[in-house]
Amino acid sequence: METIRTKLRPLVSVVAPCYNEEESLREFHGRVAAACSGLTGSYEIVLVDDGSKDATWQVIEALADDDPHVVGVRLLRNHGHQLAATAGLHVANGERVMLIDADLQDPPELLGAMMACMDEGADVVYGQRVSREGETWFKLATAGLFYRMLTKLTSVPIPRDTGDFRLMSRRVVDLFLLMPERQRFIRGMVSWIGGNQVALPYERHARFAGSSKYPLSKMIRFAVDAITSFSTVPLRIAVWVGLVTAGLSMLLLLYALYQWSQNVVVAGWASIITAIAFLGGLQMLMLGVFGEYLGRLVQETKGRPLFMVKSIRAGKHLHEVPSN
Ligand code: UDP
Ligand code: MG
Repeated sequence: METIRTKLRPLVSVVAPCYNEEESLREFHGRVAAACSGLTGSYEIVLVDDGSKDATWQVIEALADDDPHVVGVRLLRNHGHQLAATAGLHVANGERVMLIDADLQDPPELLGAMMACMDEGADVVYGQRVSREGETWFKLATAGLFYRMLTKLTSVPIPRDTGDFRLMSRRVVDLFLLMPERQRFIRGMVSWIGGNQVALPYERHARFAGSSKYPLSKMIRFAVDAITSFSTVPLRIAVWVGLVTAGLSMLLLLYALYQWSQNVVVAGWASIITAIAFLGGLQMLMLGVFGEYLGRLVQETKGRPLFMVKSIRAGKHLHEVPSN
């Protein structure tokens, strides 16, 4: 990427992954540009088109035509939120980098407060939601459950009610980019880096336009990715479940021996069937857990590129990334 982009080092880069955000982008750009130019003239806005099906890329090109601060990155296909954000972080050259959603759920105006926090010595300033407008009770309930589970399962402190909305120092971004994993859970990975990480409370708004690109299936995938990449506790649970069921079956054996001593030999069909079904189910469940980890291991060992860039647009210049 460095070979394509000149070695500019703006004070701040704003990185936003965009998937089918044609309706929000102009408003988003306007508010980000206002927030940045209120602080400094030295900024860039990196908009990553994550293989959108609508006119998102055309809007990004039009924005880049009018505003030299805009850098458009077009991915070859849809890679998902976390990888699109990673692509943006690769391209961003800023001394500090703010990661933000393009749907205006996170207010770009917080940049000033985040920059001030970083001036005080923070390495990472992350937004922490004190309220979330326009979310269904289902999303709130599942998100709450997810964070409770995750903190129980992992030793990395992953603060509750945070998203990927954050300002990071160049050092943190560079360290983040050294992490090669495909199953990316950005907020956890940044947490793992450590240093001085400061929360900044804010109100999360409803989307400016369109609907969430996270249907239930993607949410589940995201949650499983997060848990498997930050905890091996589920693997250890198998050991405990195994011990407990072994203990229970010992009791069952004693009971069977007692029955036998009383000459009761035929009774017990129901309990046998139940035990077999229960153990069968349990074994499949545990195999499934192993499979989740194994599958991820396979994905990681392939070492494929995290994302593929089709072209990069900076100002009037379009750099097609060669296809071979
Ligand atoms: N997004 C993306 N690729 C995807 C899905 C989403 O780049 O495959 C972007 C989307 O455009 C938005 C951000 O990721 O800027 C967060 O997505 P969304 O608002 O749908 O998630 P939610 O806020 O509902 O969790
Ligand atoms: Mg959103």
